[in-house]
Amino acid sequence: MSKELNFKQELTGCFGKPVAENPTQAMIEPAYRHHGLDWRYLTIEVDPADLGDAVRGARAMGFKGFNCTIPHKVAVIEHLDGLGESAELMGAVNCVVRRDGKLIGENTDGKGFVESLCEITDPIGTRVVVFGAGGAARAIGVELALAGAIEMTIVNRSTERGRELVDLLNHKTQVRAHFEEWSGEFDIPEGVDVVVNATSIGLFPDLDARLALNTDTLVEGMVVADVIPNPPRTNLVKDAEKCGCKVIDGLGMLVNQGVIGIKYWTGIDPDPKVMREALEEVFRG
Ligand code: NDP
Repeated sequence: MSKELNFKQELTGCFGKPVAENPTQAMIEPAYRHHGLDWRYLTIEVDPADLGDAVRGARAMGFKGFNCTIPHKVAVIEHLDGLGESAELMGAVNCVVRRDGKLIGENTDGKGFVESLCEITDPIGTRVVVFGAGGAARAIGVELALAGAIEMTIVNRSTERGRELVDLLNHKTQVRAHFEEWSGEFDIPEGVDVVVNATSIGLFPDLDARLALNTDTLVEGMVVADVIPNPPRTNLVKDAEKCGCKVIDGLGMLVNQGVIGIKYWTGIDPDPKVMREALEEVFRG
């Protein structure tokens, strides 16, 4: 008696350039295996000039979806069939999902962050300070606003980028946003509930880098979050712990956006613990 054999795996992946150091595969594939899914997540270097061909290729080969990272998060939009609400607001896509044969662009970066925050506190009615105004800050700012934050201060080095994000938040969401130019040590104002580093300060190999922030203004019980996944224990994370803050590290956000991506692609709720352990193993090595 012969049993039915299947050698065709379902495909997902990540398009970026450079992409070799992106650790997403190392957390997604263990989750697939843990849940008995014969799926693959491929890390694929795609040159900007080839992005259209790559998306057509993914369509033709039946990919269930794929992540987009630098430099494709905005450029991919013209090759897709539609956008989810927050991706439309942000004008950036980091997760493409095949739905009824159509490729729909979503943005899970900010959603992953909000999931991490919800594990600690309810975002409704919070006052927030976000350092940075790049892709991660846009995603986090928009999702926090959609999740019910009432006041948001965007602190950024370049005025133009900072003001652009503040305009987007004030025009497209209900949050009251304002801009502070980042010069010298920033004092967190009284009454702030959540502080987020959404800059690349502290990312490997700049391990000694520190935010220009007066750590005396970090107070017990405040939530302090850092987007830096590598290393997860940044100086900000260490300083905030010393001040008695509740801390969210960059792995939390990375894992949670991966959880949402897997749910979009496969329909299952993956176990975040398996994913976090797989990533911690990678960074320990
Ligand atoms: P961008 O290049 O779009 O933005 C970088 C931001 O950092 C800008 O606001 C920039 O300010 C600021 N910045 C960088 N260096 C300095 C500095 N020395 N002093 C002051 N400000 C500085 O990058 P992204 O937003 O895409 O990514 C930011 C970080 O978020 C990365 O480290 C990335 O790894 C991380 N990330 C983590 C995710 C996760 O799941 N954990 C998901 C997505 C991103 P300016 O405008 O003045 O240049």
